Order: sequence, then structure tokens, then C-alpha cells
Amino acid sequence: MTTWPDLPPDTGFGPDNLPYGVFSTPGTAPRTGVAIGDAVLDLAAATGDDAHATGSLNAFLARGPRAWSELRARLTAWFTDEAHRGAVEPHLVPRSEVTLHLPVEVADYVDFYSSQHHAENLGRMFRPDSAALTPNWKHLPIGYHGRSGTVQVSGTPVVRPRGQRKAPTEELPTFGPSRRLDIEAEVGFVVGAPSGLGRPVPVRAFPDHVFGVCLVNDWSARDIQAWEYVPLGPFLGKSFLTSVSPWVVPLAALEAARVAPPVRDVPVLPYLDDAGAGSWGLDLTLEVRLNGELVSCPPFGGLYWTAAQQLAHLTVNGASLRTGDLYASGTVSGPGKDQRGSFIELSWGGTEPLTLADGSTRTFLEDGDEVTISATAPGTGGGRISLGEVTGRVEAARAP
Ligand code: MN
Repeated sequence: MTTWPDLPPDTGFGPDNLPYGVFSTPGTAPRTGVAIGDAVLDLAAATGDDAHATGSLNAFLARGPRAWSELRARLTAWFTDEAHRGAVEPHLVPRSEVTLHLPVEVADYVDFYSSQHHAENLGRMFRPDSAALTPNWKHLPIGYHGRSGTVQVSGTPVVRPRGQRKAPTEELPTFGPSRRLDIEAEVGFVVGAPSGLGRPVPVRAFPDHVFGVCLVNDWSARDIQAWEYVPLGPFLGKSFLTSVSPWVVPLAALEAARVAPPVRDVPVLPYLDDAGAGSWGLDLTLEVRLNGELVSCPPFGGLYWTAAQQLAHLTVNGASLRTGDLYASGTVSGPGKDQRGSFIELSWGGTEPLTLADGSTRTFLEDGDEVTISATAPGTGGGRISLGEVTGRVEAARAP
């Protein structure tokens, strides 16, 4: 597809991507935009549709898959047919001039635990005397409900959390700044069309409800988490901040990235059976950078549970979906040491520090560290499309 907007080579934001975000320029209100090359199309101005002037994608997402595909077809025509240039070009804003905001007003937030390599790594570290996977792991996608109000856009400062910490060697807990601040490199799924209370969403209905994909960094304070999580799961060790990338890539842009999920070696119950529901493995390659240095390349395509199965599981009890619900994959880790999606894995619980290019070492994050997660996927145009990035810089704990 050729476009009349000039696209930089290997832009990642060509006409086969067209991700949605919320942007503003100095002195103007946040509104919906679509990224194309180095520009943002001001969708509110270009369409005159008030849904795109609300400052979040929710009103548009709530319209459902027919509206999503109709607008995508319009956008494709606008950018590829010179006849539309005169009407559309005045609404392009250079991306370098915009501020990007949280794209979605997040309704409920759920986080899964669906990478077998990640789950096995943590199992080996924390429960060295038992099986790496818990007995339920291959029967259901394990997850927990998180805190939607602290989901923030990329760039939001990561203030080191304070809390109760107790190392295994200590008799009593102490209170203070986390000493084991970590990342979790994840992929998030944004729900557009809601579902009714009491009506489970089957695996095959995944694209009827889920609009698109973003990147998630589930910042985690491992010392706070380790002391608090038994028996009810993650709480304050994760709820202080979850960062998301500003661009939501529609599922429609990921058609060429769809791959078969790995063979499941344990039979699943019928409601999780995805044979015949299409392949919803997604061949995304993540990159994790610490202060600009590449430290890991987690592969998303090998995740044991797909987002379609996660959606079926999280609604199977009749729990309803709301527009703006966000659910994340869980930390993405591959089999290789350089494919691990968290520092607790990269440093093996802090026992094997990483040596960085400047000679310094890291186990967990230090104040001033900046972590950036980016990702690309095969696009339908033959190249790779970009999911953009989610970044955050650690700031010192603040006095209570
Ligand atoms: Mn997580």
C-alpha cells in the first residue's frame, strides 16, 4: 500500500498499523489520534465525531467491532487515495509536537500469569523443593484483579514504594522503601464491547469484545510482594503503578502476527478448548532496555494461554466485561536467559547480577534507572509494525 503521507523507512507506523491514542498539543484538550508515520491524525477534527473528542477511546470502543472495522477502512482509504489528501492533510500533527495521554479510561484491571517459562523460573526460585508449576497451572490461566486507578501512561514517574518487607533471614518485618523494585514486561488487551452479567464469553467471541493490544509494565516490589502474598495474592507490591504504552494497536492490525499457540500437553476443560476458535497466539517480539541498553528480548508467541482463553476464563463465572477493561498477559519470558521479562529472573533472585556496558551491575532497579519496553510484530504489509513503547524512570521513595 502506498500512502501520500511521507513515511520514514521502517516506520512501524504504516497504513497496516493505524494505532489509536489520545493526544494534546499545548493549550488544547486531549482527543483521539491515529498514528501514521511521524504524524498523528487528529481524529476529532478529521471526522467531526464527538466520540473522538472525549479524551479517551472508550466512547469509540463501546460501539463494537463493526464500527471499529468501518473506521479502519475509512482511514486506509484516506491515507492511500490522493483524492482525500486535501481534506485530511490539514489534520495531521507532527508526533514530536504532541503529548500522549492514557488512551483508555481503565475500568477493571486483571493480570494473568501465562508464560510457562516465567512461572517455572519463579517456582524454582521460591519453591525449590516442589514442582516448578503449581498443580492448577495447566488447567486454568491463573490471574488476579489489580488496581485500575493506578494504571498510568508511559512516562509517568515510578516513585519507589514503601511498605513492609521481611527477608527470609529476618525475624520481623521492617517498614521502608522497597529494596527489590522490579519490572514485568507484559502485553495488555483492551476490551471494547461489554458483556452482560451472568453471560460467559466463549473463546471464539474474543474478537467481538477485545479491540486491541498495548504494552504493559507491571512494576513490582518483590520484597513487599513476597511478605504479603500468602494466602490472597498480590496486593501493595504491585498496586502502586502499572504503566501502559500510549498507542493501542487494533487486533485487525495483527492478522499477520497470529500463530498457533504451543501444544498443550494437559487436556483442558471444554470452555478453554480453543481448537476451531482460530489461532490467537501472537508473534510479538518484546525488547527491554535499561538506561538504553538492551537487556532482554522476550518472545510473546510462545505463551501457553492465549488472550482468547484468558477472556473466556475471566468471564466463565458470569463476571461481565465493561468497556475499558484491561487484562495483561503476565510477565513474558522465553526459554533463553536473554528472554526473561523481569529482573528477578534476569538476576536469578538477585544472586546473579547483570553486568551493564558501563561496567556497573544490577540485580533490582536503582533510583534514576529508566526501563523501556518496546515491541514489534509482523504487519499485513510485509514489514513489521510497532507497538510503540512503555517507559518509566525510578524516583527515590518519598517521605510519608
Ligand atoms: Mn504481572
